[in-house]
Amino acid sequence: MSTLPIVTIPEKILRQKTRPVTKFDKELQQLIDNMIETMREANGAGLAAPQIGLPYQLAVIETPPEVDDEGNEIEGSREIHVIVNPEIVWTSRDMVKGVEGCLSIPGYVGEVERYDAIRVRAQDRHGRKLRLKVDDWTARIFQHEIDHLNGVLYIDRLTSPENIWTEEEFEKLMEAKRNGHEHSPVVGD
Ligand code: ZN
Repeated sequence: MSTLPIVTIPEKILRQKTRPVTKFDKELQQLIDNMIETMREANGAGLAAPQIGLPYQLAVIETPPEVDDEGNEIEGSREIHVIVNPEIVWTSRDMVKGVEGCLSIPGYVGEVERYDAIRVRAQDRHGRKLRLKVDDWTARIFQHEIDHLNGVLYIDRLTSPENIWTEEEFEKLMEAKRNGHEHSPVVGD
């Protein structure tokens, strides 16, 4: 396995619609493994093919780990999803605000409203039919990654144009909020 360079804005490929994957061959398996490794090394929760410069309907997602009472990660509690040719077929009525970052927009985070739960129809890495219902943080990551496959970035969906911050600004905001000095507009997850 090897890691791949991550494409950042304003690269055009991030704004293009992607093509369906039709061949589930060895090369695709290698690519998927490399995408997973790249996502992990970059500490991302997800990675879509356009982010490594490929115009295909393919994304990998890793759910956050569960933690025990002491706050330690429970081994094996992270779950990897590989979604090929995904389609959102149902969305919850409820929407939730949360703060997202993107490996293709380094150094920034922004507040975005997403469906609380979605149902997705896709194919797995071997081309088998996949139906998933995801909610909460996982649903947010899925929507973020599926957006990438349509050339959409989270900065297109900010709750307000001001609701984007550098990571440092955001840290300070969170700290102020913890200390009760400021009423922050952020509704974190
Ligand atoms: Zn992203």
